Amino acid sequence: MRQKIVAGNWKMNNTLQEGIELAKGVNEILKANAPKCKVILGTPFIHLTEVVKTVDSKLISVSAENCADKEKGAFTGEVSAAMVKSTGAEYVILGHSERREYYNETPEILKAKVDLALANGLKVIFCIGESLAQREANEQNAVVKAELEGSVFHLSAEQFANIVIAYEPIWAIGTGKTATSDQAEEIHAYIRSVVADKYGKAVADNTSILYGGSCKGSNAPELFSKPDIDGGLIGGASLKAGDFYDIIKAWN
Ligand code: PEP
Repeated sequence: MRQKIVAGNWKMNNTLQEGIELAKGVNEILKANAPKCKVILGTPFIHLTEVVKTVDSKLISVSAENCADKEKGAFTGEVSAAMVKSTGAEYVILGHSERREYYNETPEILKAKVDLALANGLKVIFCIGESLAQREANEQNAVVKAELEGSVFHLSAEQFANIVIAYEPIWAIGTGKTATSDQAEEIHAYIRSVVADKYGKAVADNTSILYGGSCKGSNAPELFSKPDIDGGLIGGASLKAGDFYDIIKAWN
């Protein structure tokens, strides 16, 4: 059966020292209150090694927020999937709307990143989601389907087992506007049906589909009560251990 997951995405927040303190804080809370879901901390590259050392790997997995679309070599400033893996991180977030929008990451670039991540033994949290204009034009289903087709549907079913999907409506990210639980469930069920059409029902039933976009302790229980919502990808509310735990405990 598919995993329930709460994953944090710290984005470009926290110095190394602040990040270690935050990871310690989450770890301490979870040591005292065993989580009923998989918990992942998505951190900037420079935090990965220390956060891996700081947390109990039985309670918390660690994720990068990006990796390069090239294997290795003369790409100044880039960080490869192999480098991410060598820190002890298990996951990488790819396809986040901020990367697509501000760093011009195209479906082809993301496809290359996905392939390199999987080839290096990382699992991928692959983000998809529509803009406000696309939602208003009722294009959300076509958008998320095209994003899957463009970057992950070339994978074999065996490879696809290492993909977690995060549905994140761009209009809900960092805006305080959350999709209603019914709106989110409707598109999560659609995403699962698209995965089923491509890989079959068994694969679709085993695929975790997370919701992201202003998820917090107050709305997580309602969102997570929906049958096709398997947890959350959390930005702002992952930056304080207590706020993040308020979401994790929605699975209790
Ligand atoms: C995100 O960027 O992945 C996200 C969901 O952000 P927030 O929770 O702050 O909306």
